[in-house]
Amino acid sequence: MSKVPLIALVGRPNVGKSTLFNRLVGYRASIVYDTPGVTRDRIFDDANIDDKHFRVVDTGGIEVNSEDPLLNQMRLQTQLAVEEADLIIFVVDGRDGVTEADKMVASLLRKADTPTICVANKIDSPLDNDRALEFYEFGFETVIPLSAEHAWGFDVLYEDLIERLEAPEWVDPDNRVGIELAPEDEEITGGGRIEWDGGRIKIAVVGRPNAGKSSLINKLIGSDRLLASDIAGTTRDSVDIEVEEGGRIFQFVDTAGIRRKRSVADQLEKFAVYSAIRSMESADVTILVLDASLRVSEQDAKIASLALERGKGLVVVANKWDLMSSDEERDEFHTSLEKRLSFLKNAPKLQLSALTGRSVHRLFPMLVSVQQERHRRIGTAELNRFFKAVIEAKEPAMKNGRRPKILYGSQPMICPPTFVFMTKRPEDIEESYRRYVENSLRDRYGFAGTPVWVKWRESKQNLHKAPTGVQMAQAKKRSRS
Ligand code: GDP
Repeated sequence: MSKVPLIALVGRPNVGKSTLFNRLVGYRASIVYDTPGVTRDRIFDDANIDDKHFRVVDTGGIEVNSEDPLLNQMRLQTQLAVEEADLIIFVVDGRDGVTEADKMVASLLRKADTPTICVANKIDSPLDNDRALEFYEFGFETVIPLSAEHAWGFDVLYEDLIERLEAPEWVDPDNRVGIELAPEDEEITGGGRIEWDGGRIKIAVVGRPNAGKSSLINKLIGSDRLLASDIAGTTRDSVDIEVEEGGRIFQFVDTAGIRRKRSVADQLEKFAVYSAIRSMESADVTILVLDASLRVSEQDAKIASLALERGKGLVVVANKWDLMSSDEERDEFHTSLEKRLSFLKNAPKLQLSALTGRSVHRLFPMLVSVQQERHRRIGTAELNRFFKAVIEAKEPAMKNGRRPKILYGSQPMICPPTFVFMTKRPEDIEESYRRYVENSLRDRYGFAGTPVWVKWRESKQNLHKAPTGVQMAQAKKRSRS
């Protein structure tokens, strides 16, 4: 699978970057895991164009340093785009014509080798296309006239993007269910089984700038050899580091971003979110590094929720524990942890010091255990036996004078464990009951450190009991087709 390319929008304020951004990413309703208390800022988002998967960043939304004068802001935002993006859309105002600020941005872009498309926005009619011509003076090969507001001119832009960028196919996360079907029941016993072959575990180390990510990786790989040198220049290539420990292989993915200390991006809180998304992409398990001395922030919660949304395992590390010298400080940290990360009750947590090395070795078994939980599969027969008791203990609330009937459930997927419950009217099952079912699954089977996705699907069958073998086979056949 090729990497999801990053497209950065740059340009001076008010040229229409955020309107263009919203057009590119569109409105996507299917948020798999909407974490309460985590606000989404729309500076980064995924876009599917012609069934290809892109990611877009509006650099105008990133305040590099709010005290900086405007030109300096723009310079830093442009530098950020040049360092991080695979392609830059340089947005100008087709009605204003060329301005001094545009010239400044253009000259920065020309010096870099990141491919750039110039978009002349606010050209509201093809009759005014000529207005775009003057922007050819910047020297970019392509200038596309369009109107972000009136959604005009996008076909040309899309064509250009598809042509220039190699992007993987877009996969709607909500449609992943039903691809893999559970093996026959008799292969599975008791509390399910772990379908993991013990192979390498891919790990993303994420967190805010200065939380101690590179210090932690140094300690985990047992030497300062690989990361100590500040590698000159920048690279967008991902660099993976492998470590063997206790007969298992741990692969830390995309450490290039962590090593590269001098870039603008690494100093920015907002960009930490994007870096996290990028390295999580190919990871099984995420280590969220918190700086315990700074308490837990909204940004930490955001990064954690991204891991869960993507179905990744999660271990939470409270780093710099050596600085926590009083009970008050430790209490304060725990309070902020409970407040901000209340949705991570099930994730393993570890207090350690990447500086002294204290407790660092305890991470390895935790990573193994989370990887196992991600691969836990509960057989259909066992699941329905257990589920019967769950429903008996608490029935779903009445809806329109009727009690919703849940017919049966199955777990068609692992990584993360995904359950599907069949019911006549999924919309009748209330949110609180959905949570009750998820919590019951966790109480019974564990799944510590992995998200558990529970989907409610409509069944056309009129079943009142667990299905017979024939009915199950029919259901499987239907979900395949
Ligand atoms: P990164 O930006 O997340 O990769 O953070 P670094 O690993 O570069 O660490 C940022 C700063 O925190 C550096 O000055 C480290 O020496 C310091 N640091 C990292 N881990 C610890 C720790 O456990 N205790 C203390 N006291 N300092 C730490």
